[in-house]
Amino acid sequence: MSKKLHLGFFEKSTSDLSKIKCNKCHKLYSLGSSEPERQTIHGLKLHLSKFHGEENRQYLKRQEKEEEKEEQKLEAKLKRRKSEISIATGSTNSSSGGQLVQTIIFKMEQARA
Ligand SMILES: [Zn+2]
Repeated sequence: MSKKLHLGFFEKSTSDLSKIKCNKCHKLYSLGSSEPERQTIHGLKLHLSKFHGEENRQYLKRQEKEEEKEEQKLEAKLKRRKSEISIATGSTNSSSGGQLVQTIIFKMEQARA
């Protein structure tokens, strides 16, 4: 989950690092921790969906776009690798060639995970 998605709707508090201010109603909300790695935006998302319907829609839209971008990147990568494999194994019809492809695909799955 990318934390930058809350930008535009919330502003970090300068006096208390564990809090964030809603730009819409100017209330302070807790991030759960003052340490960035342990902070959560769960409460912020809840706040948007409860009190700021329009902002919440914008937020969700933005999030969808981000995810689409990531998927497109992955797909492009995958397509490239697939064509590389077909070139590499195009000349061999032996069973060992098939085994090689399976191994490569398995490694690709691992790399994605
Ligand atoms: Zn608010």
